[in-house]
Amino acid sequence: STARKPLFAGNWKMNLNHLEAIALVQKLAFTLTDKDFDRAEVAVLPPFTDLRSVQTLVDGDKLRIVYGAQDLSVHDAGAYTGEVSGSMLAKLGCTYVLAGHSERRQYHGEDDQLVNAKVQAAYRHSLTPILCVGEGLPVRQAGGHVAYTVSQLDAALNGVKHDQAKSIVIAYEPVWAIGTGEVATPDDAQEVCGAVRARLAELYDEEVAGGVRILYGGSVKGANIAGIMAQPDIDGALVGGASLDPADFVKISRFGE
Ligand code: PEP
Repeated sequence: STARKPLFAGNWKMNLNHLEAIALVQKLAFTLTDKDFDRAEVAVLPPFTDLRSVQTLVDGDKLRIVYGAQDLSVHDAGAYTGEVSGSMLAKLGCTYVLAGHSERRQYHGEDDQLVNAKVQAAYRHSLTPILCVGEGLPVRQAGGHVAYTVSQLDAALNGVKHDQAKSIVIAYEPVWAIGTGEVATPDDAQEVCGAVRARLAELYDEEVAGGVRILYGGSVKGANIAGIMAQPDIDGALVGGASLDPADFVKISRFGE
C-alpha cells in the first residue's frame, strides 16, 4: 500500500455557501503543512455554487488542497434543466467528482446503470470519479454485504477501460454507517475493501488492483480514523459530517495523530 497515496475527501453535502466555503478552505490551508500534503492528498467536495470561489482561492494562493463536485450530469451539454456537466466542472478545476453516493441513490433514484453513465461522463472530461458503493442494513444483517458491494462495483465499471480504471477511486460506504455515528469496525471495513480490490484484479489486473485507492466512508472522525488506516486495503476516507469541522478534518488527514 506504500505506492498508493492516501486520500482524505470531505463531502460537504448541502452545507456551506460560497463565503463559508472560502473560510473553511482557508482554515484547512492555514493548518495543513507541506509535510501533510506530501503524506496524503486532501480534497474538498463542496456544493456546485461554491466551486468557483474555491477555484479562485486555490489558484490565487497556490494551495495544495484539491477539490471536486458531489455529482455530475450524464450529458455533456443541452436541454437538461438544473444539471451540471462534467465539462463545466473540469473548467472549474475540479479533480474529483463523486458518482453513486448513497444519498443520490436513495433520494434521486440513481441506479447502477445511471451511476455507470456518470462514471463514463467523468472520464470524458478528465475528472477522476470517486465511485461510492456499499450495502444497507438489511443486506449487512443477512450477510450479503460483500456480494452486494461487488455487484455495485461490477455494474459501475461496465465498459470502463483498463487505463481509465487505473485512476478511479472507490469509496466503500456502508449506508448504515453514513451520518449515523455508527462506524464500521476496521475489520468489517477491511473485509469489503479487500474484496473490492480482489474484484479489481479479476476485472482488470494486478496493476489496477494494486494502484487504485479504496476509501472507507461512514462516520469517520479524528478519533476513529487511525484504526481504519491501519488496514491494508484502506487508502483513506470519504468524510461527511466531520469534514465541516476544520480541526477534525485536519486530524483525519493526519491519520488521527
Ligand atoms: C458521506 O456522506 O460520504 C459520509 C461518509 O458521511 P458521514 O461521514 O457523515 O457518515
